[in-house]
Amino acid sequence: MNAGQPSIFARIVAGEIPCHRVFENQHVLAFLDVNPLADGHTLLLPKRAVERLEALTPDEAAELGRAMVQVARKILGATEAPGLNILLNDGRVTGQEVPHLHFHLIPRRAGDGLGYRWQPLKRTAQELAELAQRIRAQP
Ligand code: AMP
Repeated sequence: MNAGQPSIFARIVAGEIPCHRVFENQHVLAFLDVNPLADGHTLLLPKRAVERLEALTPDEAAELGRAMVQVARKILGATEAPGLNILLNDGRVTGQEVPHLHFHLIPRRAGDGLGYRWQPLKRTAQELAELAQRIRAQP
């Protein structure tokens, strides 16, 4: 992606590129992922072109959170899936490819083969306490 160029999601928000829209209001848009991991795999994003979660204003975060609950209900209702993963790739190191903040809502079913490696680190209570303190102390 070239610096200064609108991302593909900004172009979808602007109506320049089509999408399979499932929800829209003044602040938020949700549409089907074109390469779904499951039927109903949906992307939910703020219309304002921010790259990272941390860039949202409190009001934008509230709008996104409200819409997330509504969209999750709609997806579960339409697909009759028993569960849903909500995933955010926040930053390139996480696998974020499109530099416009978006949550993935991915319907899940028993035995669907989706999932990711979850290899917990071993940490002492003292280490956890120190790290929690460092995080709490951040502004
Ligand atoms: P991420 O790696 O979190 O940035 O995810 C980007 C997602 O956007 C991928 O799952 C793509 O399949 C999806 N995607 C890319 N272009 C489009 C598009 N034009 N319409 C719908 N989904 C798209």
